[in-house]
Amino acid sequence: MVAIFSGKPNMTLPSTNSAAARDAAFVFHPHSNLKAQAETPPIIMTGGSGVYIRDDQGNSYLESAASLGQCSLGFSNERLAKAAYEAISTLGSIHSFRNISNPYLIDLSEKLLSIAPTPMARVMFQSSGSEANDTAVKLTWYYWAAMGKPQKRKIISRDGSYHGNTIITTALNGNPATHLGCGFNFPELLKTDVTNYYRHGKPGETEEQFSQRLVDSLEDLILREDPETIGAFLADITQANSGGLLPPAGYWEKIQALLKKYDILLIADEVVTGFGRTGQRWACEVYGVTPDMVSTAKALAAGFQPISALMLNERVWNVVRDESAKYGGFWHGYTWAGHPVACAVALETIKLYEDEDILGHIQEIAPFFQEQVAALADHPLVGNYQGIGLIGGIDLTDDREKRTVFGPESQLGARLTKAGIRNGLFMRLMGNARIHFSPPFIIEKDDIVEMVTRARRAMDEVNAELR
Ligand code: PLP
Repeated sequence: MVAIFSGKPNMTLPSTNSAAARDAAFVFHPHSNLKAQAETPPIIMTGGSGVYIRDDQGNSYLESAASLGQCSLGFSNERLAKAAYEAISTLGSIHSFRNISNPYLIDLSEKLLSIAPTPMARVMFQSSGSEANDTAVKLTWYYWAAMGKPQKRKIISRDGSYHGNTIITTALNGNPATHLGCGFNFPELLKTDVTNYYRHGKPGETEEQFSQRLVDSLEDLILREDPETIGAFLADITQANSGGLLPPAGYWEKIQALLKKYDILLIADEVVTGFGRTGQRWACEVYGVTPDMVSTAKALAAGFQPISALMLNERVWNVVRDESAKYGGFWHGYTWAGHPVACAVALETIKLYEDEDILGHIQEIAPFFQEQVAALADHPLVGNYQGIGLIGGIDLTDDREKRTVFGPESQLGARLTKAGIRNGLFMRLMGNARIHFSPPFIIEKDDIVEMVTRARRAMDEVNAELR
């Protein structure tokens, strides 16, 4: 790598000019142990193709989590590169405020609405899943205020969930780690139960009964808080950041009936699941979910452009549209909303998904993927396996009888991550609790065999360290 740093007097200069030293000296990595960063050299990625990515030392890794789930087509793609090049060569940037539009934005909007999980009236673009979910919260408040119920503004999300990193979406995260050190306290943002039947199901309780218990618990919360103060329920249909947790049997049917009973909007977070992850284009389709708003992001442009979308149905759109007249506009949106290059790449991605029948490929390969990953369930570190499409979720346990999670002192998650890397595999660990497999959509059978072989090797090494 060529050093581009020439040095400014007010900066601390790295002692060597290596990329690793410059990274340690200058880069503030998100979601990272900042102190440890100084002692641990970064893994510097320089390229990749298919499901493999390589670093600047010549090592190659199989990406079992498609980076953060966004690299649906792997790590490089000529066709999408051309789409980006053509857009930049023609109209590299323009905003979409106050009725300024561009052909890529119009085409993408039309396309997305034509394939939405349930009928949607409009789509607004942002650059990240966080911003899409944040926008959904703002629209919820706007909607209920317009409906003459400004007090109906509490949002319920679930324990174990992750919806992003804006202030509001962080506060909605049911993952306490993302709140650490910042004193998050928003009384209007409420939490209900995580959907992990393996961990939280009671002995003898069926999945249906577990679902009913979760729904009863949600109803208790709604009644305790007063239904007239609850604006929306925000949920990913399979809980991505709890490690790809599937909803227990009957869950979505019962939840939707409850939301209807108390006139609460449903925001479906399809940031991770959109475009085929579950084996259907949308997780909403798998579980019969009819949301009022849907956010999506990761696979929208195959991870090659930062773009997200929020779709809203007729019910919400009509009210928001009319209300905006009162204020002379809906004063919300980002400079990058409807960015022509991002839209061009997203549009080409969706066309590519269709031309190459990527959904058909996922459906064809999913049974093999499920069978192979499920076979890891016999490993001594594993308590349970569940999965759908190209989602595989493993519950790790130190006691199969009690189903308990390894304690923090075990460093299980960190050990498995490191062992994976030693074995040429990027594995997504949810602390010490779960492994989440979510490879690129283009994964083939021999990649799956290789992925599971490397994962087992890593798990064997860690098991030997711990027992
Ligand atoms: N929603 C879910 C379910 C996610 O998994 C994520 C990110 O992983 C987000 C929202 C936030 O997306 P972003 O990181 O693009 O802001």
